[in-house]
Amino acid sequence: MAATGLLLLPTTPPSYHRIVSPTLTIPTDPQLPIPVGLLACQRKHLPSPASHPPTLLITPSRRPIPPRARDYHHKLHDLQISTPTAKCEEEQEGGGQPSDIGIITTAEGKTWDITQVKRHGGHAVHYIRVQNSDSDAQYFSQGAKVTVALGNDGVNRRYDHMSMHTSQHLLSAILETRLNLPTLSWSLTTYPAPCYVELPRSMSIEEITAIQDEANRLVFEGRKVHVEVEELNREQESDVPKHESGRAVGKTLPADYTGGVKRVVVIDGVDRNPCCGTHLPSLHNLQLFLIPQTEALSRSSTTSARLYFLSGPRLIAHLTSSHSLLANTAAILSCGAPLVPDRVGQVVDERKKAEKRVEDLELELAKSVAEDILTEACDQSEERLFVKHLHRTDDAANALGFLSSVSFSFSNTVTEKLPYLLVMTSSPSSQTTSSTSVVLVSGSDEQKVKTAGERLKTEIGVKGGGRGPRWSGKFIGVWKEGREDAAIEDILRALVNE
Ligand SMILES: [Zn+2]
Repeated sequence: MAATGLLLLPTTPPSYHRIVSPTLTIPTDPQLPIPVGLLACQRKHLPSPASHPPTLLITPSRRPIPPRARDYHHKLHDLQISTPTAKCEEEQEGGGQPSDIGIITTAEGKTWDITQVKRHGGHAVHYIRVQNSDSDAQYFSQGAKVTVALGNDGVNRRYDHMSMHTSQHLLSAILETRLNLPTLSWSLTTYPAPCYVELPRSMSIEEITAIQDEANRLVFEGRKVHVEVEELNREQESDVPKHESGRAVGKTLPADYTGGVKRVVVIDGVDRNPCCGTHLPSLHNLQLFLIPQTEALSRSSTTSARLYFLSGPRLIAHLTSSHSLLANTAAILSCGAPLVPDRVGQVVDERKKAEKRVEDLELELAKSVAEDILTEACDQSEERLFVKHLHRTDDAANALGFLSSVSFSFSNTVTEKLPYLLVMTSSPSSQTTSSTSVVLVSGSDEQKVKTAGERLKTEIGVKGGGRGPRWSGKFIGVWKEGREDAAIEDILRALVNE
């Protein structure tokens, strides 16, 4: 039997947007901009990718929109389209909430991505991503009809912003009621990073847990959220105390607010807060997760703390990524997830021990190699400069370090009477044209060390330098026994006779 289910588009409950003043109405003249607070996006929040896209008329901006310095968006999306805010269903940037994104479609059926929407007076300026600003501009001449829709990415972004914004109101309200902690500011960070509220002090883990529990009791209950609008009467707005920094404490309208209406977001029995952002009509499914520690911030004269939080789609993204990070680590360690911290601790411990053992063994080996060279030097019957080239194959990260250990051991044990010049080289086991071999020259005569270094530069192409009894360098390419090794033997032979 065929399924008879019908998937309905999301609808905002009629009780969500309430005009509480008998004299306030929504202007109906399409040429007039609608005051901020009564915009379409502020009345119907629950989005769908393309439900009833409004037709907008392109109008010229009354004044040129100044390009902002260092605003890279401006370069990328340098075509700005202005439409009256009356019908624009896209949330515009403001009040700490980033704008919607979406798709704009012209009468010809051509589409462009909207990357940002900004309010300039009564106009919504849509920033779109263009290929060619000259040829694309012809589709947006004055009076052209376009439709605007959120699209799938726009819907996801709107849900995320709504979830985080409504959760912030809930969190700030409980912090203030229970702990008398005002929210100094908050940040709706870019998805998927946690958002944060800034508080005058840090919080203990017990306080964080208690606040999270209380918030989630209201979430599970599914408290309703609605918006109340009325005419703005500035005289009635009481003065709100301000911090030294000038930031207003608690609930107030921004000082630069230019809308003609006062819009208050209400969480039933919990909070009333002036706000122009988009919100969900209930706390349903807004499980709040507080990162269980605050981050202390020190500014010039004040100390505050950030409390990070997640909810809704962002919380699910966080759980998904945390789970996959943990599962991948558990798979690498061949253990169950709960054992991961112990196993990682064990691996780090073992690695430290192994590194220490390698260091000890290298030291022991360096001494042994130095002793072999010394025996060879003592066996030399004639009284002349003892020269030696030693080439090693070594994949160590610091092959020069080992050569230095050998050189140090040798110079510590050799008697002052024996003049010597050592050239030690080390190459990785598998070599390509970009491989690096290291070279170390050391000796009892600083002048001879310097001469050997200069010749290694000119005859083999080693890049390097040195001071006193030590010269070191690097050789890029494949080190060949019959070529580089032979060249070093020639250099040493010549130096014995000089
Ligand atoms: Zn708000």
